[in-house]
Amino acid sequence: METRRPVLDAARKSPGPRPYRKLQCGRHLKRLMQGYYALTKVGPRLGMKTVWLTSGAPVEIPLSMGLIPQYPENYGALCGARRASLELCRAAEARGYSPDLCSYARTDLGSVFSPEQAPLHGLSRPDVLVACNNICGTVTKWWEHLAHWLGVPCFLLDTPFSDEEPRPPHLIDYAARQVEELIVFLERHTRRRFSERKFHRVARRSREAVQLWNECLDLCTARPAPLGCADRFLAMAPIVTLRGTRVARAFYGALKRETAQRVERGEGAIVDERRRLLWDNIAIWYDIYGLYNRFAEGGASFPVDTYTSAWTGTLPEEADPCRGVARVYSDIYLNRGMQAKIDIMASMMDRFELDGFVLHSNRSCKPYSLGQLVIKQELTRRTGRPGLVLEADMTDSRHYDGSRVSAQVSAFLEMLE
Ligand code: SF4
Repeated sequence: METRRPVLDAARKSPGPRPYRKLQCGRHLKRLMQGYYALTKVGPRLGMKTVWLTSGAPVEIPLSMGLIPQYPENYGALCGARRASLELCRAAEARGYSPDLCSYARTDLGSVFSPEQAPLHGLSRPDVLVACNNICGTVTKWWEHLAHWLGVPCFLLDTPFSDEEPRPPHLIDYAARQVEELIVFLERHTRRRFSERKFHRVARRSREAVQLWNECLDLCTARPAPLGCADRFLAMAPIVTLRGTRVARAFYGALKRETAQRVERGEGAIVDERRRLLWDNIAIWYDIYGLYNRFAEGGASFPVDTYTSAWTGTLPEEADPCRGVARVYSDIYLNRGMQAKIDIMASMMDRFELDGFVLHSNRSCKPYSLGQLVIKQELTRRTGRPGLVLEADMTDSRHYDGSRVSAQVSAFLEMLE
């Protein structure tokens, strides 16, 4: 192992420029998210109703009804990036929650139990809870417990997992009927009316924002790639929390302009791109810059990843909003079988002309991480390119050994030389 370390060490010691270029529109993003979190604090005091949603729930419906959406998973990422998750996980564990439970769930529950320890003192108390199990089964029990601790009504939108391509129509029908029930639930518990006219307006803005986000991701096929993993992981916040709003559309317009300018100038997210890799799974939030910089120092960029491209499904322009919502929200990356994931990753490897891939074996996220060893074998067999598995957790830093990861990254990059 010792003989492999110099690849990174030499790069670290070099007096050259920083390995990573910062995005100008990072400031725009910061203002946007600060404004959003300010609204979640002030809105309820002014009589606005608020809803907590899972990241894969159809936000366009509550948004069109004037409700403020809040996302415990996005908040978990914020706590992870600020290195505040650990104490909140411990607060949840002190109440009996297992350390094996997803760390977003523990962070969120910990912020409910100990808001004084939580960034922003936690999310604002919701009027209703909406969970969609298209990302995992964990959210069903997590939201049930939130309903218990917060004493608010909860709706579960069940979108069955399916291996079939295309998804069988009866599964779409089943989800569409629940979307109708979701509207009734929200109307009853928030006393806000659903209007198709307003929904279509929000859906149009959502489509436009998602389209711009897709275009930003597509621009990363360029060499060098104009956006890196850290850029995309940070820039995805509005597509999760604010799609369907004008501010999200404006931000992705600005991001696309800056990304396109980088492509025109031949400027990459990292200064010296010699290798291109795929990233699989959620970011390691508490070391997001440290880890990707370690790759950048060794000349490796990440033009694509499986996580930030999960929010690229656009609502179809269907007359029946419930069917359109059911179709798009049933068919997301984590709600499909292993073969579909391998196919998607293999196609990314070709399209983005990658030299290898890195799989984050995320202790928290079982649906994302189970099967990764099979995926690694199969991807290498199909593409002839090598992969690296890094063991960590997205926000619980107790499962992260920085020196071991550095050594693995160094060895992997040396192998690619
Ligand atoms: S288990 Fe994975 S998909 Fe489910 S909430 Fe946690 S991080 Fe998200």
